[in-house]
Amino acid sequence: MKCPKCGRTIPGVDMIGPTVGNQVVGPLLDGYVAVCPRCRSILGVTVDPSAIAQQVTDAMGALIASQSSHLLAQLRTTIEEAARTTGSK
Ligand SMILES: [Zn+2]
Repeated sequence: MKCPKCGRTIPGVDMIGPTVGNQVVGPLLDGYVAVCPRCRSILGVTVDPSAIAQQVTDAMGALIASQSSHLLAQLRTTIEEAARTTGSK
């Protein structure tokens, strides 16, 4: 392939990673920057799919954890109310 910037033939591109800032659409995502090995021009940016998968997994885990602690609090309240009701009889 030829570099569109310097026009020299290059065997490939250097992948520089792992962190690419994407401050326009959201938080930082891990990714790679494709760089011409001759002139160091940035030819493209790609996001690391495994990093996205990890972020989704982390978010799901945090969501489930927050939900279950909420459910536990609700369950505790129900048990305490039941105990109070039973105790007053
Ligand atoms: Zn180049």
